[in-house]
Amino acid sequence: MPDIWKYIRKENLPHIWCAGCGHGIVMGAVIRAIDRAGLDQDKTVVVSGIGCSSRAPGYLDFNTLHTTHGRALAFATGIKLARPELNVVVITGDGDLAAIGGNHFIHACRRNIGITTVCFNNSIYGMTSGQYSPMTPKQKLASTAPYGNIDRAFDLCELAKASGATYVARSTTYHTTMLINQVTKGLKRQGFSFIEALSQCPTYYGRRNRLGAGAAMMEWYRDNALTAQAYTKIAPEERGEKFVIGDLYAADEPEYTQEYQKIIDRLAGGGAAG
Ligand code: SF4
Ligand code: MG
Repeated sequence: MPDIWKYIRKENLPHIWCAGCGHGIVMGAVIRAIDRAGLDQDKTVVVSGIGCSSRAPGYLDFNTLHTTHGRALAFATGIKLARPELNVVVITGDGDLAAIGGNHFIHACRRNIGITTVCFNNSIYGMTSGQYSPMTPKQKLASTAPYGNIDRAFDLCELAKASGATYVARSTTYHTTMLINQVTKGLKRQGFSFIEALSQCPTYYGRRNRLGAGAAMMEWYRDNALTAQAYTKIAPEERGEKFVIGDLYAADEPEYTQEYQKIIDRLAGGGAAG
């Protein structure tokens, strides 16, 4: 069992999260994965944007940066380019990453820069009291969709894969062992790793959609998450709200800062820039 308290800034507790919120579970999974991957605490940087999940770095005793809305990946890209030897982790929410930060997300994937990104997806803007996000499923209720959301939600994992990420996985707060394994794998890989962690928001998403308290929302994850193999065995018209968890994609492609270093080395050796 890792001593997780060595990674926590106890002086910043208590945390701001509501009772039953999933974000503490996901943050705990990130801590355990960092410990399991054997990362040096002083050479690890955790960067976040804005939102409930983005408060996590305030509780974590690494080099941490709480940045502006949607821009965590832009700051993280700068850090990784300046200091490629550091382990860079981004903690972000579904609104932060998929809406205002969407362009940073697809380009970080495209570059395959060595950043591990964990999206705490609670299907809503929690911090600003429950507006629908690009990850709110169709027909669900939100403060800005009182008659039901008519937008289609992104499949963030498909978006990451199509944009060039080289490790893509999804899990939930119910499937914590899987989640820890996925974040550990992401941290150990060279390129851009994306892990989507479904995390319940009982206060806004759950209450408005009558999904029950935090534990009931986790039971919903338990009952609706399937492996890709099980999912394909169900007829499309019978899939309803079921969704796929597990390792979804992995590939070996050149990592961005290593490619950048090759140019530096070539120029230092008197080679041509082109
Ligand atoms: Fe968690 Fe939702 Fe409360 Fe934010 S508003 S802390 S996401 S339960
Ligand atoms: Mg959210």
